[in-house]
Amino acid sequence: MADHAVIVGAGVIGLATACRLARDGLAVTVVDAARDGAAGASVHNAGWIVPIMSTPVPAPGMLGKALRWMARRDSPLYVRPSPRPEHVRFMLGMLRHCNPRDFAYGVEALTSLNEHTLRLFDEYEKDGIHFEQHRTGQLLVFTTRHTMDEYRAATAPMERIGHTAVPLTGDELRDLEPALGRQVLTGLHCPQERHVDPTSLVRGLELRCRELGVRFLRDSRVTGIHSRSHTVTSVVAGGEEVHGDLFVLAAGVHTGRLSRLAGHPLPIQPGKGYGFDDTSGSVTLRHSVYLGEAKVAVTPLADRLRFAGTMEFGSSDATIDRHRLRGIAHSAHAYLPEFPLESRPRGWTGLRPMTPDGLPVIGPLPGRENVLVASGHSMLGVTLAPVTAEIIAAEVAGDRQQAEMARTARPFSPRRFASQRGRTTEDD
Ligand SMILES: Cc1cc2nc3c(=O)[nH]c(=O)nc-3n(C[C@H](O)[C@H](O)[C@H](O)COP(=O)(O)OP(=O)(O)OC[C@H]3O[C@@H](n4cnc5c(N)ncnc54)[C@H](O)[C@@H]3O)c2cc1C
Repeated sequence: MADHAVIVGAGVIGLATACRLARDGLAVTVVDAARDGAAGASVHNAGWIVPIMSTPVPAPGMLGKALRWMARRDSPLYVRPSPRPEHVRFMLGMLRHCNPRDFAYGVEALTSLNEHTLRLFDEYEKDGIHFEQHRTGQLLVFTTRHTMDEYRAATAPMERIGHTAVPLTGDELRDLEPALGRQVLTGLHCPQERHVDPTSLVRGLELRCRELGVRFLRDSRVTGIHSRSHTVTSVVAGGEEVHGDLFVLAAGVHTGRLSRLAGHPLPIQPGKGYGFDDTSGSVTLRHSVYLGEAKVAVTPLADRLRFAGTMEFGSSDATIDRHRLRGIAHSAHAYLPEFPLESRPRGWTGLRPMTPDGLPVIGPLPGRENVLVASGHSMLGVTLAPVTAEIIAAEVAGDRQQAEMARTARPFSPRRFASQRGRTTEDD
């Protein structure tokens, strides 16, 4: 077993993994390019803990929707035209997975992965990790029956892991959340789902890591990886050579580039999301609410209401397209009429680490004996952080013989991209 793990990336995935490995008694160093923890996707997201949404992004019909929305600058899904070969290859790869068979396979794999998610979040609290967690459930609300039927079918497989979606009428939804407008016709109540303040989760994990003796190297971008034969010996970060006997690549959208430096490029590309926080108090909610047709997430936190949405491919920086932000604000007003239409929110963006098949990449990097990958979590990185850490810990401890864990982890192995070796690259 390894003694010293070096984890590249202090987002929710890297921190959850660092915490878990430190609890197992390893010396852990976390290396991150950012000066502090307030920048990445792990703080810029909706904060939902949602096993009920165990569905991969590539889905039958997704391409048709993307094409229809291409002309609208405020649409929830957008493929930015880009001649970059890795972007074109990635989109074609994703397109190949937009079929019923691959979608069903992805749903099954993600549902199994999420089986113990709620228990693992309970254990975080028992372990003394302080973060803002709400157990108030979720509402998926729709203005058309057709969309409701799609989501009802999509959420049915999660019943086997104890996550239910109960159909409600518009009036029943308004009994639960009076702020919902009259045009909300129907919806689903998902009582088991939770939400967190993602910033508090990242802070809580980092604090716990520090209590467990984890060393942090901030403002230290990894720019080189040194190997001897099939073993990585060190990473070069901020001019310093950081040695270890195990390396975990958890650098979000940059994991593809790092995996290339380590000798095996993985196809991880950004899916840009937008959001803003409203502190006006114009709308009060108890549940997290998904505005179904608009694909907007609304999260009631202790001191604000968070709105998040949009999936934009082909864009890898933090620039804000005002049209997309306005699209989210308009949708908010359409479903929650007390949210002011003239609202001009200050926004933020987050880059989701996406894979062509919509499944995370968790496990050993092919050809490198001591490198593990934990990335590609797409829309579910917060939800899947604790179980990802469990899989990495089992891998490090050589516990893969635990039949259930091995079976659960298999669909996420980086080996599934082995045949694409040399053809896949990262975004920048
Ligand atoms: C709008 C939006 C809403 C979302 N809503 C939800 C939700 O409700 N529920 C949910 O489960 N998920 C949600 N997600 C997805 C979730 O936010 C991501 O899957 C998750 O944050 C990914 O975490 P990460 O740790 O892999 O990456 P990141 O948070 O991006 O962290 C990666 C870290 O690696 C560092 N890094 C990068 N390159 C290097 C390098 N070369 N050297 C050193 N360090 C490096 C970065 O500085 C960064 O700190 C949402 C995402 C978005 C954008």
